[in-house]
Amino acid sequence: MALTLPPLTLYIHLPWCVRKCPYCDFNSHVAPDTLPEAETVAALLADLELDLPRAWGRTVHAIFFGGGTPSLFSAASIEAILEGVGARVRLAPDAEITLEANPGAVEHDRFEAYRSAGVNRISLGVQSFDDERLAVLGRIHGGEEARRAIDAVSSAGFDNFNIDLMWALPGQDVAGMQADLDAALSFAPPHLSHYQLTLEPNTVFAKHPPALPDEDTVWAMQDAAAERLAAAGYANYEISAWARPGRESRHNLNYWRFGDYLGIGAGASGKITLPAEQQVLRTRRRTIPASWLRAAADRSFIAEAEPVAAVDLAFEFMLNRTRLAEPMPLADFRARTGLDESALQPGLDRAIEAGLLERRDDVLLRTEHGAQFLNDLQAMFLPVAD
Ligand code: SF4
Repeated sequence: MALTLPPLTLYIHLPWCVRKCPYCDFNSHVAPDTLPEAETVAALLADLELDLPRAWGRTVHAIFFGGGTPSLFSAASIEAILEGVGARVRLAPDAEITLEANPGAVEHDRFEAYRSAGVNRISLGVQSFDDERLAVLGRIHGGEEARRAIDAVSSAGFDNFNIDLMWALPGQDVAGMQADLDAALSFAPPHLSHYQLTLEPNTVFAKHPPALPDEDTVWAMQDAAAERLAAAGYANYEISAWARPGRESRHNLNYWRFGDYLGIGAGASGKITLPAEQQVLRTRRRTIPASWLRAAADRSFIAEAEPVAAVDLAFEFMLNRTRLAEPMPLADFRARTGLDESALQPGLDRAIEAGLLERRDDVLLRTEHGAQFLNDLQAMFLPVAD
């Protein structure tokens, strides 16, 4: 089978935060007193240039500023990055440009400036509207500040924005989860990310675990949230992501569909299809912000650039693709991995037999059971040791 080029997006990582939240396993670091904004802008553009030969002539369909807390950066810096990107790659005229922002880390009128800079979607890390829950999560904002930030996003003219909420929080019950959800829905966000809090390795919460809601409460919360969001007109297009029609996150959707993305900035990962070499290349930038910044001296930003082994490709495709509710044409599998569908065996047979996937002609469908037991479904496609 021949690999063909999927859509391409660009991920830009800005790794600094006001402080580190105890549950966070992202590549985020406490910001120095003065953010190295100008150096970061220059380094990001130099970093991008390393990927250009591999993405020559391709159109970038979306840009995503993630972190960390990208809203710690001024609108002038974001504009300089976007101008520099526009001078180096071909950007689709309708490209979706998302910036992650945190209430408490952005002043009211900065959203207007971001919009003038070219950002057309804001993703706001609200997590909860309940002051007590926010304090346990170590967030720097309160519920009232979260509300003001959402109002500011709307009044700045963003008709496309996301609210991040977390659920199954320490001390939360079903009513508390619903109150958070209702508060978020009162702002009619086009997109809502609804993440279950999980304890990730190498976090403060993993070392000192808080008491989380019991399993029955978690199931009850999940059912109640799904019912409420569906009734409000949102589709659960990815395990934790809900959107009104046409408002799915373009960069994230491309990522889950096993599309290509350039990843620049400290610790960012990228994936680039190289049809001439019949390879899918994974890239990873230096993780520690100071070391990534120092790499500007000799442009040694890239810590790893390795082709994905054929044996891992099928698993990686399914790991991402099974997160989505939409049908999975096997033609996509062939085009994006360069593999024949026999590379999905025997996982495919097992998943169908267990009722986690269904097959209709040349299309796979994740069942409701498959969504509920996603980890089991994904594990069925793990490479088999020789
Ligand atoms: S604000 Fe977000 S990225 Fe920063 S430490 Fe908290 S959870 Fe992590």
